[in-house]
Amino acid sequence: MRRKEFLIVSKLNELTIRSALEGLKKRDFKSEDLVNGCLEQIKKYDTQIHAFLKVVEDQALEKAREADVEIVTKGDTAFIEKPLLGIPYAAKDNYSTKNITTTAASKVLENYVPPFDATAIKKLNDAGAILLGKTNLDAFAHGSSTETSDFGTSYNPWDLSRVPGGSSGGSAAAVAAHMCLFAVGSETGGSTRGPASWCGVTGVKPSYGRVSRYGIVAMASSTDSPGPLTKSVEDSALVLKVMAGKDPFDATSSPAAVPDYLHEAESYDLRGVKIGRPVSFFEMDLEEGTKQKVNEAVEIFKNLGAEIIDVDMLSPKYSIAVYTILQRSEVSSNLARLDGIRYGNDRVSFGFEAKKRMMLGAYTLSAGYYDAYYAKAQKVRTLIKENFDEVFRKVDLLIAPSMPCVALPVGESAKSPMFGEMMDVLNEPACIAGVPGVSVPCGFDEGLPVGVQIMSKMNEEQKIFGALLKFQKATNFHLEKPALIKEQ
Ligand code: GLN
Repeated sequence: MRRKEFLIVSKLNELTIRSALEGLKKRDFKSEDLVNGCLEQIKKYDTQIHAFLKVVEDQALEKAREADVEIVTKGDTAFIEKPLLGIPYAAKDNYSTKNITTTAASKVLENYVPPFDATAIKKLNDAGAILLGKTNLDAFAHGSSTETSDFGTSYNPWDLSRVPGGSSGGSAAAVAAHMCLFAVGSETGGSTRGPASWCGVTGVKPSYGRVSRYGIVAMASSTDSPGPLTKSVEDSALVLKVMAGKDPFDATSSPAAVPDYLHEAESYDLRGVKIGRPVSFFEMDLEEGTKQKVNEAVEIFKNLGAEIIDVDMLSPKYSIAVYTILQRSEVSSNLARLDGIRYGNDRVSFGFEAKKRMMLGAYTLSAGYYDAYYAKAQKVRTLIKENFDEVFRKVDLLIAPSMPCVALPVGESAKSPMFGEMMDVLNEPACIAGVPGVSVPCGFDEGLPVGVQIMSKMNEEQKIFGALLKFQKATNFHLEKPALIKEQ
């Protein structure tokens, strides 16, 4: 009996949010069991994966016990007031967390303890979710592998000799390794969809302004978009509903009403929906296995009743130049505040990647070069945005690969100074235009997950969720687990 109980409890960390909520409501288990399951998984695997920079074990257990009391005293009403009550999650270490170090994986902020929570964290905590700890990233979110982290790289749970992607690599690896029920990441130019694709999880880059940026260590403010990484589309819909909304502390946050994403997604009818297939995205240098799996996903959508239409769009290659210039320019301005005077360590603590980006940005913004680089990049950005507006007059959604290849071996990023931009070439256009995109697993190539993404016009995430919910109901790719995790 004890053994059986142990087996059941030790698997709780593998639940989706939706099934965990059902179990909590039925009192099949307690939030404390869920949290313990995740903590055990972290202890078991994180020495190899290194998804976490910090685990707040005592705080998480205390919050779980509080949640359990709330469930007992209030019953189902507790979940109406707090839709994520008792659900353990992990946050990328660029989300400010009150009284918990927030380093952005940089030595500059090594000892920085924020006196406040980022708005997204506050909303999640207010909704009853329980923070387990902070996850690794490329320092200041600069990169696509976690290898620029000043605290060591993270490893891909599907193959420990490979990177999980980045910059939200720790968050994606933690979800893939079932160390938490969900995680939050942030995307400026691919940093959520990329690692979600490489780790075989669902990753959401919401519309720009959909989720408040307040309290998230600023990278490129005009594209930074925080969002969830989960085990299913349903779970992403649940978490985004909590994270999204107007925030008086972020003037760029959208005042648009937040839909009940899951409810709308469940009633979304894919039949007759026009999904554009941007030919230029498929003409990029894609690995054969990736191309094949994404083409198969396109067929699945066709079989589910969607109408697939080839559309002409600007080549994503233009986004590389635009993204690189805008991102560097905004980085040089945002990181200037880390001067070692008000908080954080001295500027000498900046890593190579951040220094490189700041110097380039100072150049593209300087008198004499501003017009040639920054102003020109902004003009091309407008063209890219108009290109999306135009295509969304013809189709409802867009489908494309999330990444050009499967997860790369550790060490690969050091070979190219433009690694981050090249890897995220298929994600940058949506970031530049501000439109949302969600990546889900759509198959495996040589045992590694491949991701496909669906994009929509601004603030139509519910349609993306609707289409992908049908996809996940018809397929099992999102249910696969890394071999490492299966060996119990
Ligand atoms: N590849 C992008 C970069 O290196 C990823 C950044 C991001 O989205 N945070 O800049």
